[in-house]
Amino acid sequence: MRQILVAGNWKLNGSLDSVKQLVSGIMAGAGDTGDTRIAVCPPFIYIPLAANLLAGSRIALGSQDISDQESGAFTGEVSGPMLKDFGCTYAIVGHSERRALYGEDDEWTARKFAAARRTGLTPILCVGETLQEREQGITEDVVARQLDAVIDLEGIDAIGTAVIAYEPVWAIGTGMTATPDQAQDVHAFIRSKLAGLDQAVADKVQILYGGSVKGSNAAELFAMQDIDGGLIGGASLAADDFLAICNAGG
Ligand code: PEP
Repeated sequence: MRQILVAGNWKLNGSLDSVKQLVSGIMAGAGDTGDTRIAVCPPFIYIPLAANLLAGSRIALGSQDISDQESGAFTGEVSGPMLKDFGCTYAIVGHSERRALYGEDDEWTARKFAAARRTGLTPILCVGETLQEREQGITEDVVARQLDAVIDLEGIDAIGTAVIAYEPVWAIGTGMTATPDQAQDVHAFIRSKLAGLDQAVADKVQILYGGSVKGSNAAELFAMQDIDGGLIGGASLAADDFLAICNAGG
C-alpha cells in the first residue's frame, strides 16, 4: 500500500507575515491528518523561515525548482546542496510553468531531476499534456516522452526514488479538474509504462495528481487505484483548504 502524499506548491506567493500564518495554520491542523504525508514548497526566499517554523513537525519541506548545477558562475540559481542545508527533502522539477514560461525542456528537467537525486532530495517530477495535446489524442505520447527523458539520463531505478506528479496543463489554476477517471487513466498508463521496465519500481512509486484539486474533489481523486495524493497549487495557500485536502487522504 502506497502512502498518500499531499504537497503544496505555493508558487510566487507569500510575505513574511503570510508565511508565518500559513505554516502555523497547517501545523495546528496537521496532527489530525492520519498517515498522510504532508509537504510544503515555499518560494526559495522563504525556505529558511519555513524550515525554522516547521522544525520538529511532521511536515516536510520542498523547493519549487532546483538548479541543474551545484555551484559556480550560475547567477540566480539555487542548488541542491543549498536546499538540503535548509532542510528541504523534496524538489519539484519540470513544473509546467517552468516548462512553458521559462523554456525548461525535457532534457533540462532531467538534469534537474539528476541534481536533486545527487543531493539526496526526492524529485517531484511533473508531467502532463496541454489542452491542445489532449485534443490531438497524444496525451500518452507527451507523458511518455517527458518520463523517457529522465529514464534515459538516470535509469529506471531512479524513478523508484522519486515522486511523479501528473498535472494536465489545462487543469492547473483553471478550476477545470480532471475527472477521477480521466486522471486514473493517465496514472495507470504511467504505472504500466514503468512496469514494462521494472515492476517493483512501478509498484512503489507515488504518482500524485495536480490540477485544481480542492477539499471538495480530493477524496474521490485520491480513492482511485493509481492516484497516491496531490500536488496542490491555489488551494495550498489557505491552511483550512490545504488541510481539507490532507484529510481527504483517509
Ligand atoms: C500546480 O501548480 O502544481 C497546481 C496543481 O496548481 P492548482 O492546484 O492551482 O491547479
